[in-house]
Amino acid sequence: MNHAGTNDITTSKQLRSWVESANDPLCDFPIQNLPYGVFRTQDRGPRAGVAIGHLVLDLHVLAEARLLPAEARLFAQASLNAFIAAGRQTWRGVREAVSSLLEAGNARLRDDSALREKAFVRQDEATMLLPVEVPGYTDFYSSKEHATNVGMMFRDAKNALLPNWLEIPIGYNGRASSVVVSGTPVRRPKGQVKLPDQERPVFTACRKLDIELETGFIIGVPNELGTPIPCADAEAHIFGMVLLNDWSARDLQAWEYVPLGPFNAKTFATTISPWIVTLDALEPFRTAQPMQSPQPLEYLQHSGEHAFDIHLEVRMTPAGGSRASTIARTNFKHMYWSMAQQLAHHTVSGCNTRVGDLMGSGTISGPTPESFGSLLELTWNGKDPLTLETGERRAFVEDGDRMTLAGWCQGDGYRIGFGECAGTILPAA
Ligand code: CA
Repeated sequence: MNHAGTNDITTSKQLRSWVESANDPLCDFPIQNLPYGVFRTQDRGPRAGVAIGHLVLDLHVLAEARLLPAEARLFAQASLNAFIAAGRQTWRGVREAVSSLLEAGNARLRDDSALREKAFVRQDEATMLLPVEVPGYTDFYSSKEHATNVGMMFRDAKNALLPNWLEIPIGYNGRASSVVVSGTPVRRPKGQVKLPDQERPVFTACRKLDIELETGFIIGVPNELGTPIPCADAEAHIFGMVLLNDWSARDLQAWEYVPLGPFNAKTFATTISPWIVTLDALEPFRTAQPMQSPQPLEYLQHSGEHAFDIHLEVRMTPAGGSRASTIARTNFKHMYWSMAQQLAHHTVSGCNTRVGDLMGSGTISGPTPESFGSLLELTWNGKDPLTLETGERRAFVEDGDRMTLAGWCQGDGYRIGFGECAGTILPAA
């Protein structure tokens, strides 16, 4: 089902804004995007905003001026949860109102200098906060290329994919408390590492710190305990998407993950980008997902197109350096299991979801070695270190290194960008 409607005026490529920076073809935040986030400044408490060009539009100011079809209190909060809980009609109404107010020919806000002064903040003067309070975080494992690479490394090439992988969108329940917003420093974890030549593990700082290039989707419409979400309806439960870095301690993971999956190797931090890009904004970039064989069981079937054409990049800035090297380029459309299938599978047991729940895609790796979404794969478990453009060599992430994920949908003369999902590694405590 196409829930946004293909004739949605807010995504028309003809739209232009009177905010000139939004019309730059390389800007992440044109008028067609309008992602939601939460910010504060020196003189404004936490509140909801929309990114437009190099600015943030303060939704609380707009609602107080009675320019939005939603109560102002929904926007004067430290998270978007109350606004999201108001429902899809409210999200659509606010999106349409904001789109109209920012449209080049609309004089209402453009020519009201007093209101304009109050309603905008420069992005470089705003501190972005975690956009949602995350009640639950689940991480999937839905890239066939990633699962195959990991299987080849840790099992054998002939049996790289376990037999359940093609039947189930594999996932596990992650840790919500350590989800942080882009820019938050990440402390290198310590834990148990089992070295091959020793009988017992040692307690040490992680020596194989890695990233995982992922996207995440945010639950907008929850389901009740005992009531699964059908695959065909699943996208209507999604508020929007973010970039997600599932930081991973590979040496801790290798020792702890049998038999119940990763634990402390993943609990120390998960970074998300601050702007939530709505499915409405992504609608023009809908595309077909890879052919699924065997055909999934009936509860995992949906018709139509359920992948999205989102370019993704991983950039690494070595400690003390000022220049980032792009170390991987891939695309979300390679994902074998769709978000709808992930959500249908997650809830088919009767598991409920809550507003703000975060669902990670799993590492997104493409078909070529340059498109792998983790250092584990890019360096083949450290055996083949990368050489950055500035000359440094890296097998894994070192203290002081900054890792940045970027993503965008390429339109005709504009892009629907996600902004950055970045974090710098601090030495172990
Ligand atoms: Ca992951």
